[in-house]
Amino acid sequence: MLGSAYTPEEGMFPLNYLNITQLKNAGLQLDAEDIFNPGKISLTDALVNVGGCTGSFISNEGLIITNHHCVYGNVARLSTEKDNYLENGFVASDKTQELPVSMPCKITQSYEDVSDRVLNGTSETNTPSERISLIGKNIKSILEEERAKYPELTIEISEMFIGKSYTLFRYIFLKDVRLVMAPPLTVGQFGGDTDNWEWPRHNGDFSLVRAYVGKDGKPAPYSKDNVPYQPKKILKINPNGTQENDFVFIMGYPGRTYRHESGSYLKFQQEIQLPTIQSFYKQYIDWMKELSDGNTAKRLKFAGTIQGMENVEKNYRGKMQGLRRTDVVQARQIQDAALKNEYKIGTLSGKQASKVVTRIQELWETRNQIGKAHFYSNIFTRQSRVIQLAELCMYTNALLQDKAIKNNQPLKDSIINDFQNKASRFYPFVDEELEKRAFIAVINGIQQFSAANPGINNKPSSQVLDVKTVASIRKSVVFDSEKMSDLIAKKPTKILSTINKDIVYKIVSDLSATRSNISEIWRATELELAALMPQYIGYREDYLQSQFIPDANSTLRLTYGYIKSYKPNDGEIHYPFTSLEGVFEKANTLPDYRLPKQVQDKLSQQNVPAVFKDPKTGKIVVGILYNMDTTGGNSGSPVLNSRGELIGLNFDRSFTATINDYAWNEDYSRSIGCDIRYVLYVLKYVSEADKIIDEMGIKL
Ligand code: ASP
Repeated sequence: MLGSAYTPEEGMFPLNYLNITQLKNAGLQLDAEDIFNPGKISLTDALVNVGGCTGSFISNEGLIITNHHCVYGNVARLSTEKDNYLENGFVASDKTQELPVSMPCKITQSYEDVSDRVLNGTSETNTPSERISLIGKNIKSILEEERAKYPELTIEISEMFIGKSYTLFRYIFLKDVRLVMAPPLTVGQFGGDTDNWEWPRHNGDFSLVRAYVGKDGKPAPYSKDNVPYQPKKILKINPNGTQENDFVFIMGYPGRTYRHESGSYLKFQQEIQLPTIQSFYKQYIDWMKELSDGNTAKRLKFAGTIQGMENVEKNYRGKMQGLRRTDVVQARQIQDAALKNEYKIGTLSGKQASKVVTRIQELWETRNQIGKAHFYSNIFTRQSRVIQLAELCMYTNALLQDKAIKNNQPLKDSIINDFQNKASRFYPFVDEELEKRAFIAVINGIQQFSAANPGINNKPSSQVLDVKTVASIRKSVVFDSEKMSDLIAKKPTKILSTINKDIVYKIVSDLSATRSNISEIWRATELELAALMPQYIGYREDYLQSQFIPDANSTLRLTYGYIKSYKPNDGEIHYPFTSLEGVFEKANTLPDYRLPKQVQDKLSQQNVPAVFKDPKTGKIVVGILYNMDTTGGNSGSPVLNSRGELIGLNFDRSFTATINDYAWNEDYSRSIGCDIRYVLYVLKYVSEADKIIDEMGIKL
């Protein structure tokens, strides 16, 4: 049995999994009701899921603090060469100057286990797809019932353990959110991609937005008549800092972890998924940078995409390093082998466990075989607008061929109208050359990885596009952004009737059978895996004699730990605090450490009040490091002290902690936050936003 050697690989607790005694023993000075208290007021009421990140209310007028990297895409979109808020930062001088962003907020009101209702009748189903469709139907009817009961709330059902347990969440959903403040890029993202997923860290990755509601206090879409939302609870800011080994905790909405997957899943990640996506993204990022070099307007258009892709690309490199250095994959494979060969719990013979594990391994073997082709065929095609256009034309033309539609003019018009709307989303291009390169790379990828693939039936005839074909692809009208925008607006039917002569369309259409085959295999394995996973997880729990915590799934979680140094690489020990001195040490030594003179001057204050400084060292603390279990979505989560007061803002993990998504471990898992005193320092001296500091109720 592995039970005794088993160390926990998780710590993102749903609120109903909290062991308050354990938390108090660890250092918490609050009671369970201070954390969550339905119908009354608790810390949960101060927490929001804001555009997929986490934020918390810090004023009675709906002011939310979250990360700069969470608002980055919106700030880039709002920026122009003249008013470059991304580069120079933004501070609304009053509420009328705040700018609408697309970052809806969700606030958890209550939750309830609905597993029995969701799984009702599934034991009588015969196939994985019957089971999945019954689960879907049950969820739909529960949602309908709940939505009728609580029309003012947003209701969601989240899968906690695949195919096994489900929780219903009731949320307040706020759509009108506005940008209040963002620091200059050279503060918020100081260190750029060089420092992303790394410690030591020297950036002020924070920003402020405000949630608004209708005059009646109810959630409402953006309107200039809306009023600030009044949160039930705001976080108390504690500017007294923290010391090594202090107890800390985080609440937030972590996105996704994969802690209960099989060894075969992890092997697939290591060998296929991570390297394939990482190298494609790297190539795409390099193209965007090259093609927008020296062109600010174009760079601003690419900014959000570059930031998002770089974040994933480096995260995947971190995971690849982590999986290579640790025994996470091998350990899980050994557990699987043990489940297959030795599993005997109570009266269970182990035969069924063996069957389940064997089948899971076979399914992942199939996925290993077609994995690369799948990524090119299904995921990377989203990077090519012309592939999406060709697919849309194919779909629309097929609809228009339908006899019933052919003779029904209003229906035909509405289909063409729909085509026009969807096609106009692909144009104009930011850069035509980028679209050409992306198309050629994706098509070559699909062909290369499926042509000689024994797992795929409908194979393409060639592996790579030849020189002549590439030359005519480059001349295709679909890459002429201006002409296509015009045609979509004025003559959409002309596109539909002539597209089949275009080389781009022909190539996409010739690959249809191959791509459908890949999708069918992928989908079939997905359904079967979904049906097997509940049993697999059950066997693992029994075998390891452990009760698992559900994987992160963007629902509210709490994690706790300590401010802690660590040893990421041989011979290196990292102290858990950084200071402003480090900003100046790095300044202008690399392009990612660019620090313009005026920002540097503002950061170099003389006679700084004691409140900004660490009482022990006298330094202005910038970054803090702790051993809490976090993932994406915890970006912007408040770092709280034992009394639930805000001392920092979580924004990242160290390179070695990128494998948190598969397994957490005290040795290598460290998360990174920005000290709340640095937030206040930047607000005061860089953004000169005293009004906001007043609104937060802080006296400096
Ligand atoms: N910076 C991270 C992100 O991109 C936060 C994390 O994953 O720890 O979401």
